[in-house]
Amino acid sequence: MEKENNLQTLAQYSTIQIGGTADNIFAPATRDELCSIIKEYTSRNLLFIGGGSNLLLPPVIDGSVVLDVNLPRVLDCVGTQVTVSSNYPIGSLLRQLMPQNIGGLEFLAGIPAHIGGLVKMNAGAWGESIGQFISSVLVINNEGEIEEITAESIEFGYRTSNIPGYILEVTLELKEIGANEIEQRFRKILAHRNESHPLDTPSLGCFFKNLVDDEGNKTSAGKLIDDCGLKGTRIGGATVSNSHANFIINIQNATYEDVTELSYLIQNTVLNQTGVLLEPEVIIIQGREV
Ligand SMILES: Cc1cc2nc3c(=O)[nH]c(=O)nc-3n(C[C@H](O)[C@H](O)[C@H](O)COP(=O)(O)OP(=O)(O)OC[C@H]3O[C@@H](n4cnc5c(N)ncnc54)[C@H](O)[C@@H]3O)c2cc1C
Repeated sequence: MEKENNLQTLAQYSTIQIGGTADNIFAPATRDELCSIIKEYTSRNLLFIGGGSNLLLPPVIDGSVVLDVNLPRVLDCVGTQVTVSSNYPIGSLLRQLMPQNIGGLEFLAGIPAHIGGLVKMNAGAWGESIGQFISSVLVINNEGEIEEITAESIEFGYRTSNIPGYILEVTLELKEIGANEIEQRFRKILAHRNESHPLDTPSLGCFFKNLVDDEGNKTSAGKLIDDCGLKGTRIGGATVSNSHANFIINIQNATYEDVTELSYLIQNTVLNQTGVLLEPEVIIIQGREV
């Protein structure tokens, strides 16, 4: 089993550019290798990293890590049915599908994520989420065996899914849309993100979940944080973005502790001023003392 020895730090695999080491950092090149790693290491705490755009990684991870960087990238289209490997970056997928007049996922344009992570998190924007396009997924279970799970057995929630194991491949039912229309949608979404998000500084996107009540009414976490006057609040190298209050950005060599302390400060301030306890959307991986 190949272990990746050249990866000094995991910071390069998280979009906020924070992260340290782990017991083992695996970057398998084949499915067989990946199956063996999962079978052997799942019981000893194994973290899967895709695009790393939703993961806050500690200096030392208590367990091992699997990266998807060396796995083969697969894309197969039959009409509007698209089967794609989990390590495909969403931007590359959208660019591949556009000239084939296959669309539907433009709302995800501009997100620095891979398909596996997007599906696991049921990522979404502007009222749409990727789960609604899923026909089936191919996963590697904890025994290291590959199995298919169809959409009927999957529960997608707000930024959650109950898909077990490692997502290897995803089959999506997309829409036939003219390439020009797709491109227009694509540009509109990118323009909107560029206007409202601090995309030139490392971050994990929205740090806290928006609130949704039983009637489906939404309260923006960003607005609550903004209303509490927290824009620009800084701890170490981590700051609450001035352009979008729900983004914690790494402006100067921020550490894991800087970000977690700032997130507690935000939570406590919002709780004290509004009575609302914000729940992180970002996954904060617990570390181990060295
Ligand atoms: C600039 C920016 C903008 C963003 N905008 C949005 C947005 O509009 N909407 C939104 O929903 N999110 C957004 N995000 C957050 C993030 O992109 C999503 O949560 C996304 O789903 C994470 O995908 P990823 O590949 O980066 O996953 P990672 O961060 O690598 O992992 C996320 C979770 O998925 C698991 N995982 C990853 N790959 C696999 C796999 N193959 N099999 C099983 N589990 C896996 C990980 O273990 C982890 O639990 C944004 C982030 C950034 C930085």
